[in-house]
Amino acid sequence: MGEFDLIARYFTRPAARAVLGVGDDCALLQPAPGTQLAISSDMLVEGRHFFAGVDPFTLGHKALAVNLSDLAACGAKPLAFTLALALPRVDETWLAAFSKGLFALADAHGCELVGGDTTQGPLNICITVFGEVPVLNGKSQALLRSGAKTGDDVYVSGTLGDARLALDALRSTPALPADLLAQARRRLEQPSPRVALGQALRGVASAAIDVSDGLVGDLQHILRASGAGATINTATITPLLASRTHADWASTGIGDDKQLECVLAGGDDYELAFTAPASAREAVQAAAQSAGTPVTRIGCVETEPGLRLVDAEGKSLTRRFSSFDHFQ
Ligand code: ADP
Ligand code: MG
Repeated sequence: MGEFDLIARYFTRPAARAVLGVGDDCALLQPAPGTQLAISSDMLVEGRHFFAGVDPFTLGHKALAVNLSDLAACGAKPLAFTLALALPRVDETWLAAFSKGLFALADAHGCELVGGDTTQGPLNICITVFGEVPVLNGKSQALLRSGAKTGDDVYVSGTLGDARLALDALRSTPALPADLLAQARRRLEQPSPRVALGQALRGVASAAIDVSDGLVGDLQHILRASGAGATINTATITPLLASRTHADWASTGIGDDKQLECVLAGGDDYELAFTAPASAREAVQAAAQSAGTPVTRIGCVETEPGLRLVDAEGKSLTRRFSSFDHFQ
């Protein structure tokens, strides 16, 4: 099978909302009047972002999910995406499963594949997504990292740390009971981008980011961009490790230190961390309800720069957590 047959068979579907989809030199999109395009790219490299031999269906899902998560963080509504793909060889079983996982998530979010590039090379998947954000009275409604103000509450959506737990278990330790590993592994391999929540938070949140490299590091991006600091109560965060509620949890013997590391610095969570004024507490809960994604208030924005972690008694944590960085 050649390059063009491969594209036609696995990556071409009739354009639904795009003016022009796969097949020409460019795709054509028509953003709705009064909207801006939100654009983001994410690359997944074999051996770096995923294990060689990972299930291609979940890989197709995850490649798009991490991109949709960036749109969610900006409060954008998904429109379309492009796919640049390097494949070591044509493996039709792999391609069928990969495209199935990719399109299942794309369809769930009404996000169309409109173009891309296909080459031979080490397995590498690069997706660019396009989304739409409204402009009201000349002002973009996009959620940015830079809007947090002293006195704002800090929130995080959903659950945290299970992807990291699964990653560590798959690499070596801790050993997890099969059912618990399967649950945590779904978080690692098939994250749910918080697209509905991001849109519901437009006009409510003051700043937002998606948690991809670990909560502590990603929150600091908001704080730096906003010229602010924050204190986070770790007692509100540890319970967010979903694995703790699993029937087999007690048998793992995983201690507080490991749990804290997973929830604070785990990475691959694809939840939203955001800030909102205290006056918006009801609006935040209403947004969470409408999106079907719970949110937890975990701290407060302060004037003094830096991120401070305290325990339930307000005592500072001495332990340091660092986030993932490809070059450090
Ligand atoms: P060009 O040579 O003009 O860059 P290509 O020959 O690479 O175009 O691709 C032909 C068409 O197929 C283009 O419309 C391109 O966007 C699309 N395409 C190529 N690879 C993919 C892919 N992996 N997924 C979706 N569309 C693709
Ligand atoms: Mg090409």
